[in-house]
Amino acid sequence: MIKTAEPIKEVLIVGGGTAGWMTAAALSQMLRGQPIQITLVESEEIGTIGVGEATVPHIRFFNRTLGIDEADFMRRTKATFKLGIEFCDWGRRGDSYIHPFGVFGEEIDGVPFHHYWVRMLQAGIHFPIDSYSLPIIAAREGRFAYPATDPEKLKSTFSYAYQFDAGSYAAYLRAYAEARGVKRIQGKIIDATQNPENGFVKAVTLDSGEKIMAELFVDCSGFRGMLIEQTLKTGYDDWTHWLPCDRAVAAQCTTVGAIVPYTRSTAKDSGWTWRIPLQHRVGNGHVYCSSYVTDEVATTTLLEQLEGAPLTDPKILRFTTGKRRKQWSKNVVAIGLSAGFLEPLESTSIHLIQLAIGRLLDFFPSRDWNPMNAIEYNRLMDVEYERVRDFLILHYHATERSDTAFWNYCRNMDVPDSLTQRLGLFRERGNVVNYRDGMFLDASWIAVYLGQRVVPEHYDPRCNKLDTEQLAHKLAILRENCVNAALTMPAHQDFIRTIGAHAN
Ligand code: FAD
Repeated sequence: MIKTAEPIKEVLIVGGGTAGWMTAAALSQMLRGQPIQITLVESEEIGTIGVGEATVPHIRFFNRTLGIDEADFMRRTKATFKLGIEFCDWGRRGDSYIHPFGVFGEEIDGVPFHHYWVRMLQAGIHFPIDSYSLPIIAAREGRFAYPATDPEKLKSTFSYAYQFDAGSYAAYLRAYAEARGVKRIQGKIIDATQNPENGFVKAVTLDSGEKIMAELFVDCSGFRGMLIEQTLKTGYDDWTHWLPCDRAVAAQCTTVGAIVPYTRSTAKDSGWTWRIPLQHRVGNGHVYCSSYVTDEVATTTLLEQLEGAPLTDPKILRFTTGKRRKQWSKNVVAIGLSAGFLEPLESTSIHLIQLAIGRLLDFFPSRDWNPMNAIEYNRLMDVEYERVRDFLILHYHATERSDTAFWNYCRNMDVPDSLTQRLGLFRERGNVVNYRDGMFLDASWIAVYLGQRVVPEHYDPRCNKLDTEQLAHKLAILRENCVNAALTMPAHQDFIRTIGAHAN
């Protein structure tokens, strides 16, 4: 007779920010029909972090799995479409490139396109790599359309994400989760009780005196890591020496001009600023390193670059870049900021929440608490965090800027061996090492390498099959096709209107 492990019946999610409500929504949908009670406790007094508005394309698959209607979601979260991120002043002051959600050119005879680009560069024929990317041209033109589903079409070579109001997204998912049976409790947790034999968390106590018992606890309590750290003392890997920014100041402002379909990141003297356009306002922030700049100067830098009238007072946030040593410890799984933090340069945090939820479902525990589930979960999440970490470090390290102490530090700092190897291989002959399990694909690495002036010394010799004239002709057609395809797309703002949302 096949024996099945007894399922756990009570899950408590601690925290009602983006992580908490994404977890609640996903578990309520994916565990539907199972005898399990999901409860979420959140504290209105503590509140949420209130930032986290730019995403990567994977969020669409999350929403789709939940059966969320895109037009309804966009209307309620005041979302805009996002084709990539523009990076200004990173490689050198005055530089600008876009990291697109899409590819550059096309493979020719099985050789990746960027090798042909390097070959032409060496032959003295230089067109920016951006001119071979449809989403970059569309973004710069302020245009948007859905990607084509036919993989033969140029218009299928890109993807898109959203920029949305984080508070509205959490509220949207709360309504979704509550409709599927999730119980919400408002209250502040002041204590947690552990089983003296194995250290598992048994219950949490609210300031009202109420005790909430559960079998599995999902810690979505934000930076404080209420259970994973304060109770279980799991420990934290601090990556500040590689990603030295440790503060951010955020403020919202009104929209000026057309709503563009991309996020902008501009390098500053001791960090960088973001601009995230939503339908009804713009989210702005300045991520900086407190060893090089004061809060006052950082705030002034942010306010000086606001394009519209300020809508909120600047809010300062402190953080330590890194990750929890174990994101799953005993019967506590940390998701969101309680699991770790990688600064928002590539909008990866919400994606890491999504990944964590997927992995939790893959290794969902039963009452026998097989330790292998936690071990594998932690291994996979560690890999994901390290991949994102390396990609972020690349932005800081691959710079020619020497105009401030901060950039001198970043340019000269030691980087993880995994990144040194990747950089070396690209510099030498344009090889993009394929990380398994990492979220960023080759085109993303190529965008940042070339955008920040890391140009290969050599190219793949298989590119020499075509003579220069033939290749120049082929590339000219590719460029023309990209421009023509972009110009057939509607203006981003009009597109938002057509799907039923209200731009402005
Ligand atoms: P929080 O929003 O902090 O929520 C914590 C919850 O726990 C709250 O409900 C709180 O009330 C509750 N809680 C805490 N303690 C208790 C207690 N004792 N009792 C009861 N309840 C409690 N991510 C992106 O993907 N894109 C971005 O563009 C982006 N930008 C960012 C910019 C900055 C400056 C920062 C700091 C982060 C950014 N992030 C971004 C990350 C993103 O904000 C978070 O990943 C996301 O908001 C999830 O946060 P959270 O739910 O883990 O934590």
